[in-house]
Amino acid sequence: MIFWHTGLTTVIVWFVMRGNPRVDYRVVAVASLLPDFIDKPVGRIFFKERFGSGRLYAHTLLLNVALFCVLFFMRGRAKRQFVLVPISSLLHLAEDGMWSKPRVFWWPFFGSKFPIDHSPWSWSSYFRPGIIVQEVVGLLLLLWLFGSHGKLNREGLANFVKTGRLE
Ligand SMILES: [Zn+2]
Repeated sequence: MIFWHTGLTTVIVWFVMRGNPRVDYRVVAVASLLPDFIDKPVGRIFFKERFGSGRLYAHTLLLNVALFCVLFFMRGRAKRQFVLVPISSLLHLAEDGMWSKPRVFWWPFFGSKFPIDHSPWSWSSYFRPGIIVQEVVGLLLLLWLFGSHGKLNREGLANFVKTGRLE
């Protein structure tokens, strides 16, 4: 899912941080997809036989909390930007409802092997009704957020792409 994660994550981060002009929402949007950018190619394409699942290491609480620890070694602007990465990727886990997959979420406490996901998966399974509803919700949230900040026009979008700022 793309808009489900970018839409929900961006709106939640905006809601918490609104009024803070230094938030780069481009970082938020990209990082909201980070767990899938990592796990989907690994578990569904490159090591399909071995894992057979699109939710692996990057969908674990451990790895996402570890990302926060990287912040100890950073300072200034880089730190302010990077803090948005673990926040956004943790929100991704929540949006995936990962607590219902405790063997992945709490990895490796319930065993180091990731469970195989037997639900049918192919490019066409992306177009299932449940997923479409979630994508539409995410897209509407994004449209609302951008619209309410006057960004739904060529100039506004160009400005966003350049600065990552909403307000
Ligand atoms: Zn995911």
